[in-house]
Amino acid sequence: MTVSIVLFTQDLRLHDNPALHAARRAADQVVPLFVLDTDIAAGGFPCPNRMAFLADCLTDLDTSLRRAGSRLILREGRTVARTVRLAEQLGASSVHVAAGVSGFAQRRERELHSALGGRLRVHEGSLTVVAPGAVTPAGKSHYAVFTPYHRAWQQAERRTPLPAPRSLATPEGMESLPVPTAEPDSPALAPGGESAARRHWRRWSAEHYDALHDDLAADATSHLSPYLHFGCLSAAELVARAASEEGPGPAAFVRQLAWRDFHHQVLAATPQAAWQDYRDRGKVWRVDEAEAQAWREGRTGVPIVDAGMRQLAHEGWMHNRARMLTASYLTKTLGHDWRVGARHFLSLLVDGDLANNQLNWQWVAGTGTDTRPNRVLNPYRQAARYDPDGAYVLRWCPELASTYRAGHE
Ligand code: FAD
Repeated sequence: MTVSIVLFTQDLRLHDNPALHAARRAADQVVPLFVLDTDIAAGGFPCPNRMAFLADCLTDLDTSLRRAGSRLILREGRTVARTVRLAEQLGASSVHVAAGVSGFAQRRERELHSALGGRLRVHEGSLTVVAPGAVTPAGKSHYAVFTPYHRAWQQAERRTPLPAPRSLATPEGMESLPVPTAEPDSPALAPGGESAARRHWRRWSAEHYDALHDDLAADATSHLSPYLHFGCLSAAELVARAASEEGPGPAAFVRQLAWRDFHHQVLAATPQAAWQDYRDRGKVWRVDEAEAQAWREGRTGVPIVDAGMRQLAHEGWMHNRARMLTASYLTKTLGHDWRVGARHFLSLLVDGDLANNQLNWQWVAGTGTDTRPNRVLNPYRQAARYDPDGAYVLRWCPELASTYRAGHE
C-alpha cells in the first residue's frame, strides 16, 4: 500500500487543486496535512480576523474530506519538520505542495526539497491563473509593468480546472489536533471555507462589474478576495468560468485577476519587495504617530478616508477604491511611509496578502510598479466621482448626516 502526503498551504480547497489531484494519482492512500506553522505565528503575520477565517477554512476542508472518506490531519510546529517527520513515519512515496510566492514559501520549498529530495513535488500555477515566471520579458525574471504583462498573460497557456475528488482513501487511526478557534476583531467578518466561497461565487455575477466596480456605495465587486487569499477558490477556475461569459463585465473582472497574478509574479521574483521599496526613489517619509493613529481609527476629518478606515475595522475588508484613496492619503498627502499603512492593513484585512497588499501599497506610494509614481488621488475629487451622493460616507460616518447632506443640496 503506497501513501502520499498533500501539504495544504494557501490552497484550502478540493476543487481544482493540482497538489491534491497529483497526490491522489501518485499513491493508494493520501494524507491531507495542514501545519499550523509556529514560525509564521512568531513572525507576526497572522491576525485575529485571518485566524478566525482560517479556522472556518480548516473546519470546512475537514468536513469535505470526511464526505470523501478521508479527513484533515492537523499538526503544529515548523511546517518542514512536521511534514518530513510524517513522511518518514508513513514511508510516504511523495509529498505534494502548491508553489508559493513569498520568501517564506520559497524557503520552505527549498528546505522540504533538501530533506525529501525527489519525493517532493511542487505544483506551479495552483495559487494563480498563470504561474509566476511562466511569462517573462526576454532576459528578465518578471514583468515590472502591468500592461505588457497583461498582454502576455492573455496569450499564456491555461490549465483545465480539475474536479474535486469524490473519494479519497486515508490511513486509519491517524491522530490530529483539533481545529483551533479564534475570535475575530471585526464584527462583520465574512465566513471562511470552500463551501461558503462556492455559495458566494454562485450567487455573484460579473455582468455589471465594468460599470459598477468603482462605485463605492454600490459595493458591487465580488468580495472573493479572502477566498482567493486562502485558496478556497481557484483563480484558474474563476477565469475559466468568466471567460465563457459574454460582455465587458466578465472581461473587466478577469483583468483584475490578472492584476493579482501580476503582483504574485513580482513578489516571486523579488521577495524582498514585501518590505523594501521595489523602486528606491529616495523618498523621505514623515513620522507623526498621532496623525497615523487618527488615520488608523478613521478620525482624519476627511470623510471618504474615515469611511474607508471604518469599513476596514468593521468588516476586515475594504472596497478597492477606498483602499486606493486611503493609502494615497496616508502616503502622498500626509507623506507617511507605506509600510506604516501596509502593516495596519495586514493587521485587519481578512484577505491580507503579502503580494497584493505590499505591492498595491507600493504602487500607490510611488515606490512600486506604477508608471506614474507621482500621481496623487485627491480624496475630495475621489469622493465626488465615486461616491457622488455620499451614500458610502454616510454608511460609515453617520454622524456627518446633517452637515454632509447640507453640502450636497
Ligand atoms: P474584485 O474587484 O471582485 O476583483 C476580483 C479579484 O481580483 C479580487 O478578489 C482580487 O483577488 C483581485 N484583485 C482585484 N484588484 C486587485 C488589485 N488591485 N491587485 C491585486 N489583485 C486584485 N487585495 C488582496 O487580495 N489582499 C490585500 O491584502 C490587498 N491589499 C490592498 C492594499 C491596497 C493599498 C490596495 C490599493 C489594494 C489592495 N488589494 C488587496 C487589492 C484589491 O483592493 C482587493 O483585491 C479587492 O478590493 C478585493 O475585493 P473583491 O474581491 O471584491 O475584488
